[in-house]
Amino acid sequence: MAARPKLRDMTAQTVLSRPVQRGGAWRRVLWTLAGVSALLVGGAALMSAQDDRLPVPANWPDMGATLPAAQPPKGLAFSVLPTAASNGGSEALVVGGGSWLTYRRPVQVAVLVNHPQAAFLFDTGLGREHAAQFAVNGVAHQLLLGYGEVRPAADQLAAAGWPVSRIRMIVPSHMHWDHVSGLVDFPDAEVWVTPQEQAQAEHGAPPAFLRSQFETVKRWRSLHFTDGPYVGFERSLDMFKDGSVVLVPLTGHTAGHTGMFLNLPSGKRYFFTGDVTWTKEGIDWPADRSKVLRRMVHLDHDEAMNQAAIVRLHGIQRRFPSLKMVPAHDENVMKTLPQFPAFEG
Ligand SMILES: [Zn+2]
Repeated sequence: MAARPKLRDMTAQTVLSRPVQRGGAWRRVLWTLAGVSALLVGGAALMSAQDDRLPVPANWPDMGATLPAAQPPKGLAFSVLPTAASNGGSEALVVGGGSWLTYRRPVQVAVLVNHPQAAFLFDTGLGREHAAQFAVNGVAHQLLLGYGEVRPAADQLAAAGWPVSRIRMIVPSHMHWDHVSGLVDFPDAEVWVTPQEQAQAEHGAPPAFLRSQFETVKRWRSLHFTDGPYVGFERSLDMFKDGSVVLVPLTGHTAGHTGMFLNLPSGKRYFFTGDVTWTKEGIDWPADRSKVLRRMVHLDHDEAMNQAAIVRLHGIQRRFPSLKMVPAHDENVMKTLPQFPAFEG
């Protein structure tokens, strides 16, 4: 009778080399895989279950019967400059209630508005100095916030014969790193931000705020919403006093987060909504970013205020379905807009 092998001799090799037990080992592997898959699916379902739609009020604030009048001048046009795309992930993380099986790749863009009085950028996307700026982040944040090839807005403009000096102003939706990386590429532009946003950025820290991106700005312009109510917002700022470009406060994601209505000569109307949501689905459903991501990373300055802003955008979209909403990172929406050097006016 063969001696019973000691426990330490029962290696995987000895188990697998015995034909009688080989099937058992594979069965164990399959059961383990099934168990891990069930855990993953169960975990994902559990996480998704926490992502309820945001409650919608029975009565909306007065937004007027129609969108406000505008006199956009002939020649006003805009174009999108895609500067980079993040490495991306499951849609269920990007928007609560999204599919775990849909892969999303949020983009970082600059929006060029060419108004006869002045050309300006709404956000800059990633700029020429992105690598040095991003290098201050730890390894975990570099992985989490990773992005692909960068095509700085300044380079795209230069290639099409636009000197950077032609960009007179930059209006960041907010001062997070993926929106103001290109400020340094436009040293003569006036940067319009609210005092609250500037203060938050100056007291902020990586990875959200990167000092190297804005410490050399020469010309700040303090943005105040000195004009009257607009589409339900109590205050607004009509940039050129012709109703074509109207800024509104969308506080929550950051302290001075700003949105931009753009009213074109063609009659087409856009609302650039920054990072209130990362996707159009967030406005349509309405839904915040996934709870699991919000608990993992500190995303919002004031989460409750940002959720109120999401619901407000949802209400505006319901009231004015022809108004085209443009969340700053939604790659699907961006694809439908004119890509530089193409313009729409
Ligand atoms: Zn962003």
